[in-house]
Amino acid sequence: MQRVYMDYAATTPMLPEVAVAMQPFFSQRFGNPSSIHSMGQEGRDAVETSRGQVAGLIGCQPADVVFTSGGTEADNHAIKGVCLAGRERGNHIITTAIEHHAVIYACNFMKTLGFDVTVAPVDRDGLVDPADIKKAITGRTLLISVMQANNEVGTIQPIAEISKITREAGVYFHVDAVQTVGHLPIDVDKLGVDLLSASAHKLYGPKGVGMLYIRPGTRILPLLHGGEQENERRAGTENVPGIAGFGKAAEIASRDMAKEADTLTAYRDKLIEGILAQVGDAYLNGHRQQRLPNNANFSFDFIEGESILMYLDSEGICASTGSACSSASSEPSHVLTSLGIPVERARGSVRLTMGRWTTEGDVDKVLEALPRIVGKLRAMSPLIKERCGWINYL
Ligand SMILES: *Cc1c(COP(=O)(O)O)cnc(C)c1O
Repeated sequence: MQRVYMDYAATTPMLPEVAVAMQPFFSQRFGNPSSIHSMGQEGRDAVETSRGQVAGLIGCQPADVVFTSGGTEADNHAIKGVCLAGRERGNHIITTAIEHHAVIYACNFMKTLGFDVTVAPVDRDGLVDPADIKKAITGRTLLISVMQANNEVGTIQPIAEISKITREAGVYFHVDAVQTVGHLPIDVDKLGVDLLSASAHKLYGPKGVGMLYIRPGTRILPLLHGGEQENERRAGTENVPGIAGFGKAAEIASRDMAKEADTLTAYRDKLIEGILAQVGDAYLNGHRQQRLPNNANFSFDFIEGESILMYLDSEGICASTGSACSSASSEPSHVLTSLGIPVERARGSVRLTMGRWTTEGDVDKVLEALPRIVGKLRAMSPLIKERCGWINYL
């Protein structure tokens, strides 16, 4: 069966060029970048080349990039590191209701250490109102954390507008940009952010490597202690193959992302218009225009997202409900409920996220299969029978 992968927001396949770039560092070039000898220097060179490539992708200096084990560590480092470094000056964090769990749970952990957390709401489209952020700032606020684009519904936040507020208030601003780095043009100075998280496996690189951008002068403590790596900001022998792969993926993204975004935007719009035209009682979640080029997220009344996924999977189509991380629980996603979507409707949600290897044929397959599957499930649904009697729904 030819499979259709529509779960690029969960993870992306690696580019073949990335695997080639990583390969030598598993075998011949295994030296520790901290070793003085020539084999160590080969590792060091790979790490520093990568740092330059990643910096180039987000418009910062190489020295401002700290490699991490992924997006989760970068988010944790930003939040815990800034709060612990600033605990004499403040004890307040502002974040939003639709952040990734890496941000939400790190903030919750800081609560156990005596910090207060204000959670800014979002509107029906998933947009944060910068005025709500401004209102929440107090003399004790240390850090504001707002994601650039949401991993479930794709809504893109007005980061540059929010950073005007954080700058004026003199409060550090962290942005989880895991869904945008390598997909949208990013310049940390134009965005006005102090800290920014990214993850290689969301941009056709390997899993288990990411980075945190830290603006020079930012007061932040390390998460890991034990060595002087990463300019004493992240102890531990570097993941050299992973970092080499991340650099290659960043270089290729710099070259290809504009064209890819154009193609995916056209596919996304075809998918959204096609589904809404073919299926009744279906809703697009997230902002119609201000959204990631690759993301479509729908709710279908009267049925369960998990059942839709199972039928799609049986036809070779890989999609997801909310985020990959919450798929084991049957609670509706915190993102969808924060958008004001009723719990019953949130349960009938499907996220389709596309990428580099998506074809128009894939989009057409989904446009044929999804309405048919929704119709079949609704015909069996007790919810729909209640509402419409035994008349076939579609
Ligand atoms: C995937 C993701 C993360 C976590 O990144 P990992 O590298 O998988 O730890 C964090 N934030 C967002 C928005 C994500 O999509």
